[in-house]
Amino acid sequence: PVRVRFCPSPTGSPHVGFARAALYNWVFARKHGGTFVFRIEDTDKERSTAESFNAMVETMQWLGLDWDEGPGKGGPHGPYLQSERTDLYLEVLGRLRESSYTYDCFCTNDEVTARRKAAGSKVQGYDGFCRDLSDDQRAAFEAEGRSSVVRFRMPDGSVTWNDLVRGEVTFETEFVPDFALCRANGDPLYTLVNPVDDAAMHITHVLRGEDLLSSTPRQIPLHRALVELGISEGVPEFGHLPLIMGEGNKKLSKRDPQAHLFMYRDAGFLPEGLLNYLALLGWAIAADRDIFTLDEMVDAFDIADVNPNPARFDLKKAEAINAAHLRLLSVEDITHRVLPFLKASGVVSDPVSDADAQLLELAMPLVAERIGNLTEAVDMLGFLFVDEAEFTRTDELDGPGRDVVKAAYDALSALDTWSTAAIEEALRAALVDKLGLKPRLAFGPVRIAVSGRKVSPPLFESMELLGRDRSMARLHDAMF
Ligand code: GLU
Repeated sequence: PVRVRFCPSPTGSPHVGFARAALYNWVFARKHGGTFVFRIEDTDKERSTAESFNAMVETMQWLGLDWDEGPGKGGPHGPYLQSERTDLYLEVLGRLRESSYTYDCFCTNDEVTARRKAAGSKVQGYDGFCRDLSDDQRAAFEAEGRSSVVRFRMPDGSVTWNDLVRGEVTFETEFVPDFALCRANGDPLYTLVNPVDDAAMHITHVLRGEDLLSSTPRQIPLHRALVELGISEGVPEFGHLPLIMGEGNKKLSKRDPQAHLFMYRDAGFLPEGLLNYLALLGWAIAADRDIFTLDEMVDAFDIADVNPNPARFDLKKAEAINAAHLRLLSVEDITHRVLPFLKASGVVSDPVSDADAQLLELAMPLVAERIGNLTEAVDMLGFLFVDEAEFTRTDELDGPGRDVVKAAYDALSALDTWSTAAIEEALRAALVDKLGLKPRLAFGPVRIAVSGRKVSPPLFESMELLGRDRSMARLHDAMF
C-alpha cells in the first residue's frame, strides 16, 4: 500500500514550495488509495517555532489537504512531531554505531578545511579522517577533551536510483562526504531522523522538491543500512519535483512576498483556485486545459507526467485561474465566503445584521461575475454598507464632472419611483440625450459620487440598492 509523507520543518511561514509538495503528495496518496502522513520535522530547536507549526496546520486545513495520520489526528506510527521521537533516533543511532555503519569523528571544521586546502582538494565537506582511527588515536582525542559527532560511512562507488520524475540519477560518492548524524551534544540531525522516520512510518514514496535532491544519495545508503539491520522494510522510491522560479529566472525566494501562502488567503483567493495553480507548477492535465478541480487532478495524475524542468511562478496566471474558479461557484457560495472578509474589514458587523445580510444577498449577484478574489467583493460592495458619515470618496471629481453630477442630481430629484429602470431612464435623458455626453463621461462622475470608486457594480442597480436618501446625499456632497 502506498504511504507518502509531507514533512515540513516549522521554521517560517508556509510558502508556495511547501504547498506544492503537500498537494502532490496528497494527490498521489488519493490516486493510489494510499495514506497521507503529515509529519513535523522540528528537530532544529533553535529555528522551529510553535507559531510556524500552527501556521502549517492552518494552511493545510485552509487548502483542504486532509491527512490520515499526523498532528491532531494521531495514527499507528506517532507521535508525528520529531521532537517527541528522540528515543527512537538514539536507539537507531546506537544500532548503527554498533554495526560500524558509522564512526565517531573528533575533527573540527577548521581542521577539515585546512586539510582539504593542503591537499588541493576540490571536494567540499568531510575528508574521512576519523574513518579508521586506532584505539590509541581515539583515546588521545578523548584525552584532549575533544567532543565527537557520529558520521555515516558512505559506501564507495556511486548511488543510483530511478527517480520517479527525473529518471535515472547517479551520484559518485566521492563527492558525497561522510555526513554527521547528530550534533556534538548528541542531538539527532535531519540526516538521521528523516530516513529513520520514513522507515518507521513505512513510507513507500518520497515526493519532495528538487532542492532536496542532494540529500538522496545520503539517504539511500542509510536506508539500506536500516534494511540490513531489520529496522526498515525497504528503501522508498524517490521523486523530486521541479524547482519553482520567480522573477528574473531566479529560484522563488522566501523573501518574495508572493512566495507566502497567507498572502493568497488574505487576498481572498479560493483554496481550490490556488491548488489548481500550484498543480500547474510541474504538471498539466492536458496541453490545452488549465482549469480543473482537485478531484479531476486525482483522477488524471501520474507522477511520471511531472515535468522535471523548472516551473515558472506567475502571479497573473494564479489570479486568472482563481478568477475562473470563482466563476464556477454559485452566488450563494461566494456570498458565504465573502462574509468573513466583510466582517474582518468592519464593513458589516459580526454577527451580521438581518438588514445587511439581505442587502448582501441582493448586491452579490451584481459583483459575483466581476471579481477575481474575495477581497475585491469587499472593495466593490463596501459603499453600499456605510452611512453618509462614514462614506469617503477616494477619487476626486474634476470640474466638468461636478456639472454632470449636478445635472444628475436635478434629474433624479424629480423621480417618483426609485427603481433601477427609472434611475437609468432619468440619467440617460438628462446626461446623454440632453447634455450630449458619451455614456462613460456621463455616468463616470455619478459612479464616483455614489460609490467612491471608478469601478463599481452596475451603477443603476447599485443606486437602487443604496436607496434614494443615501444616493441623493452623496450626489449632493459631490456637487461642492
Ligand atoms: N523537513 C524537510 C524540509 O522541510 C523535508 C524533507 C523531505 O521532504 O524529505 O525541507
